[in-house]
Amino acid sequence: MISVQEAQRILQEHLPDPVRELIALENALGHYLFEDIQAPEPSPRYTNSAMDGYAVRWEDCSSASSDEPVMLRVIGESQAGIPFDSMVSPGTAVRISTGAMLPDGADTVVRVEDTSDHGGEVSISAVRRSGQDVRKRGEEFSEGHRIFRQGTCIGARELALMAAVGLHTVPVYKRPEVSLLVTGSELVCHDDTDILDYQIRDSNTIMLAGSIQESGARLCATSHVQDNLASTVEAVQRALASGVKLIICSGGVSVGRHDHVREASLQAGFSELFWKIRQKPGKPLFAGVRDGVLLFGLPGNPVSAYMCFRNFVRPVLAQLQGVTGLDRTVTAKVSEPMINRGNRTLFHRVNIENLPDELAVIREVSPQGSHMLSSIVGADGYIELQPGEELASGDLKEVTLF
Ligand code: AMP
Ligand code: MG
Repeated sequence: MISVQEAQRILQEHLPDPVRELIALENALGHYLFEDIQAPEPSPRYTNSAMDGYAVRWEDCSSASSDEPVMLRVIGESQAGIPFDSMVSPGTAVRISTGAMLPDGADTVVRVEDTSDHGGEVSISAVRRSGQDVRKRGEEFSEGHRIFRQGTCIGARELALMAAVGLHTVPVYKRPEVSLLVTGSELVCHDDTDILDYQIRDSNTIMLAGSIQESGARLCATSHVQDNLASTVEAVQRALASGVKLIICSGGVSVGRHDHVREASLQAGFSELFWKIRQKPGKPLFAGVRDGVLLFGLPGNPVSAYMCFRNFVRPVLAQLQGVTGLDRTVTAKVSEPMINRGNRTLFHRVNIENLPDELAVIREVSPQGSHMLSSIVGADGYIELQPGEELASGDLKEVTLF
């Protein structure tokens, strides 16, 4: 058995290379940027008005007040999408709408509220400053300015900015492609209505499929494999031939007579990276590699499968997409003494209780059986307890949040 850190170090040495892909903006949601992006256009693209009002020359109306308004001749209009085609010359003004192009000659916008319309003339009662309510070309950023950093997750806001500057394709990390093999002759589909007394509903398929998608990866195929060596070898070979970068197996990885995932992987040409880790839950975790393809054998117990996915598979999927700073942690106060009497790292599920004006308190989730999904569903996160580690009530401990 190796330690958790050792297993993670080994994995680091066998990570597949991230793949760059150019995709259309319409398909970019949820992808991560492969490289920095410079603005192909300035923002705003042209100098325009921030208000509905009149485009004027500051010189003409700087003295305007409600007692002594300034009268200007209205010579036309600049509408959003329909610019005024001439100059604002001394003594004149042009009606302007929000977002419309500022006509040549004008340098300031007077808000409608500070004017009164007299047909061909407008009376102006206040102008605060030169350049008021003008949005200058490039004032937000100029062409060539870095507007995104590599590794940014593209959400709705990022899409909007990309669209605004005319990016139609973006360089992203290709979603890692994953194949899922779920073993177990006792399993039936979760919606089976004819389930027999000695069968169980498959909850790992839907859990791992969800976890794969939550990690930004693409689940290419899922199969249910019976507990016999030949079928398992065949399933691993099929997954390998499909060209995915990652194969994730569930169950059949322990030392039982009907656990075939490790042997099948070796027969399919994978080299063992590790098998069995000093951790609880998830001791039997297996990993292998062949030609840059990683294979994980997660234990079948649902909590073990989930925790192994979180601690080993998820970071790999994240790295393949340039994601850093994956885990969110909080420090809180232990509410009751805890001790790890075993010889394995314990991933102990906990809840965090927020208290007014005090540090939050950590409470153990109980019970913690690796077959008890409620121990991850009801938990806020987990703490890591090393062999022999002892915590007294009041001690501070870091909690990794789910
Ligand atoms: P295994 O690792 O295959 O020995 O399975 C360990 C335990 O997890 C057994 O009680 C299995 O019935 C259970 N188990 C295995 N696979 C699944 C699954 N897909 N969904 C729910 N429970 C499972
Ligand atoms: Mg099994």
